Amino acid sequence: MTTECYFCKGKVVEKKVKVDFRWGRKLKVIENVLAGVCQQCGEKYFHSTVYRTMEKLAASRAEPTAKTGARHAF
Ligand SMILES: [Zn+2]
Repeated sequence: MTTECYFCKGKVVEKKVKVDFRWGRKLKVIENVLAGVCQQCGEKYFHSTVYRTMEKLAASRAEPTAKTGARHAF
């Protein structure tokens, strides 16, 4: 399935990308997010489910990279 870029009509391919996700005043960098990326202009497209997952991640207080030694039960 090939998607066309909304802006430049370039080819959009699925890739795992790093996202700078802004949530309120916080900025979270989330890696390995599956997104459609335009080969021409670099515009990123996210599935609504992926977007919701990122929102949850950004809204949560859990810091996956924090080295506090604390263990969170999920
Ligand atoms: Zn494009």
